[in-house]
Amino acid sequence: MTQLTRCHICGARLVELEGYTTATQVTSDCRPWREGGHLAVCSGCETVQKPVTENWLSEVQEIYAGYAVYGQGGGVEQASFDQNTGASMARSLKIVNWLQSNGTLRKTGALLDIGCGNGAFLRAFGLNNPHWQMTGLELDSRNQTLIESIAGVTKLHVGPLESLQTRFDLIVLIHALEHIPDPINYLKSLSGLLNPGGLLLIEVPDIETSPFDILIADHCTHFSSITLGGTLSKAGFEVFGLEAGSVVTKELTSLARYPALSDQTNSDSSEVCGKTTAMIHIAWLQQLLEQGQSATGPVGIFGTSISATWLAAALGSKVGFFVDEDINRTGRRHMGYPIYSPKDAPKNSVLLMPLRTDIATAVAQRLAQYNLQFTIPSAPSNA
Ligand SMILES: [Zn+2]
Repeated sequence: MTQLTRCHICGARLVELEGYTTATQVTSDCRPWREGGHLAVCSGCETVQKPVTENWLSEVQEIYAGYAVYGQGGGVEQASFDQNTGASMARSLKIVNWLQSNGTLRKTGALLDIGCGNGAFLRAFGLNNPHWQMTGLELDSRNQTLIESIAGVTKLHVGPLESLQTRFDLIVLIHALEHIPDPINYLKSLSGLLNPGGLLLIEVPDIETSPFDILIADHCTHFSSITLGGTLSKAGFEVFGLEAGSVVTKELTSLARYPALSDQTNSDSSEVCGKTTAMIHIAWLQQLLEQGQSATGPVGIFGTSISATWLAAALGSKVGFFVDEDINRTGRRHMGYPIYSPKDAPKNSVLLMPLRTDIATAVAQRLAQYNLQFTIPSAPSNA
């Protein structure tokens, strides 16, 4: 970066992390994306982020325009949406159970789900909280009929936050905050939509445990529990629940209230190490890629989600097929390659596993009976 952008959270100077610009990226809806992205860490708050430049903003516009096209299409893209539906319902139920166990929910209230998608969270929440009135918010009306058919949903609001005329007791942002270029101001604008003492539930990927998240081109903030907590405090919220991986694997789940009742001094932790984490991820992803490049092809790739899409795009013509355990995916194609079940995958081919080492090891043991040449990524080396 010749002209350094400032941190989009605290305004301090950004330090670019080397080795990222040549990485193939992916979009959050699992499409291969070009290289040339930038990854940086803030010298002040230590948040790992994509610098929000004009260029990044216009790329993101391009990515979201593609989302719309996919939503209207059918075929494999639709299957990938169906797959997401199942996953997001399971995730939503876990989050709702955690909210219930927290003991802070009243019997009745008004909820706003920002970026409600196909309504998985609204459905899960409504099952447990029949006396709440729920509103979904989306940028387009594609799922309007579906959302408004969910018990407890008053309406799907299509359009910007500013056009909402009512206040809420709970605002939910699931996999949304990491896309937002100006998180502090955005969170402040949410506080204006909350009744006094209102709650904010946020779910984002956890950079500490999900190395592949840095490859997602339209995620501009890669939160850790420390930087998420810091961001919420800076926006005037009081965080009273923050779970890393214990509600949903590899994700942060946080519950905060507005206004803050107690004075939260941001503990200036010296253990904050956003840079180290991101550098370890970059080195490990590079290793994973080299492992694939050195294998004699054609190679198979385990999975069809973000990490598999990235590896396939980065390896190019070396790839022969995908292997997936999800029966909704097997028999179809992804990026033009066939998707096999572990049982039907070509024997004696190298099968790359773009998964964390511990997870890859467990999967390889579980599927040992199929005699595939599982290639386990080596463990990340500590910088
Ligand atoms: Zn910062």
